[in-house]
Amino acid sequence: MRSNELENFKSILLDRKQAILDNNLIHKQTMEYTKNSNINEADLAAAHTRNMLDSSISKRHYLELEHIERALEKIDEGIYGICEMCDEAIGIGRLKAKPHAKYCIVCRQIVEKDSKDQK
Ligand SMILES: [Zn+2]
Repeated sequence: MRSNELENFKSILLDRKQAILDNNLIHKQTMEYTKNSNINEADLAAAHTRNMLDSSISKRHYLELEHIERALEKIDEGIYGICEMCDEAIGIGRLKAKPHAKYCIVCRQIVEKDSKDQK
């Protein structure tokens, strides 16, 4: 991969990381507000449902954050864009769609099939 492409992916990953961190900060502030305010039971139930939705979103974000951190490490190690399963190049097109991709398209399908079979 060319170094300007690598820099480009690095800035995309850093932006994405920042966006997730900002998002989680807002999430925490909302939780504090809900806890501290005097609201009736119906509101509380609604807030609870909302919080459950929020926490599942932030769990997904947390996973994405881990993948982004790993991708940034790989940029520093000079192995970014290499599939973790077959050691082939992942491909610029796929990385543009998903900059923190760990696997090439072929391996991704194998991993997805395996995780479905286990359920
Ligand atoms: Zn692969």
